[in-house]
Amino acid sequence: MRFHKAESAFFVFVSLVFGAGALLVYTYMLIQNGFATQGVGEHLQRFNQLLFLVGVLLATAVVFGVFFIYPLIRTQVREEGKLRAMTETLSARSESLQHAALTDPLTGTQNRRFFDDALREYLHEFGRIEKPVGLMVLDLDHFKQVNDTHGHDIGDKVLREVARAFRDMTRYHDVVARMGGEEFAIVAPNMSQEALVKLAERIRKAVSGLIIDAGNVRIRVTISIGLSIWNGRESSEEFYRRADKMLYEAKRLGRNRVCA
Ligand code: GH3
Ligand code: MG
Ligand code: MG
Repeated sequence: MRFHKAESAFFVFVSLVFGAGALLVYTYMLIQNGFATQGVGEHLQRFNQLLFLVGVLLATAVVFGVFFIYPLIRTQVREEGKLRAMTETLSARSESLQHAALTDPLTGTQNRRFFDDALREYLHEFGRIEKPVGLMVLDLDHFKQVNDTHGHDIGDKVLREVARAFRDMTRYHDVVARMGGEEFAIVAPNMSQEALVKLAERIRKAVSGLIIDAGNVRIRVTISIGLSIWNGRESSEEFYRRADKMLYEAKRLGRNRVCA
């Protein structure tokens, strides 16, 4: 077994103190016996030597403690502090990396990668307890025109504000994700088709009521929504495709509407 420097130092320190203690006990016993037999005088020289030795051992222990053990402890404490700070920085960085990997930087909603996993997980969990899972695919109408007319930065602002409306109008466990461009998706578990259609209508109306400040003009946008309720058998991809078809239908029927 190999000992760390600090451990070895501690053993030396304890041995010195223990040695001094043993000598003191020995001296004490000598004194007791001395008094009982010949008196203290005979042993005085011996006591002196023993007490001197005890003093030397204790002084060595103190010097050793102050000049060797204490600096060792200080170094260790400092290193531990540095290590802890480093670990904290690292874990904060990995957390923010993980967050960045799953979040859309423009709108702050989840990204497609997060969405794909979440949808699969929801289908698995809610399938087990036989509860419905609803899905909406939402797409801004004629968004290219917004960009062409007002510029890309205003387009970005519109995306941010619309995404915020989505987040504000959904529940904590609903997943709101930007799937790319101006297309979003919302997974809303444990909701009947009727309730989901109502929610989609509320979201659609809220977006069409948004007034987005674009410098000297104010713009309004609309969205089309396709939605479906999971049939309990289809894969997440098939489920998404079905909602997407409904979105296509909403576009075909003239946009700014919900199709289920
Ligand atoms: P539709 O009603 O059929 O959906 O028409 P649309 O114009 O919305 O659809 P289209 O697919 O023709 O155009 C989408 C536009 O979205 C084109 C692209 O420039 C714009 N877009 C995609 N991603 C971004 C983005 O991150 N920021 C901005 N400002 N625009 C984006
Ligand atoms: Mg569009
Ligand atoms: Mg689109």
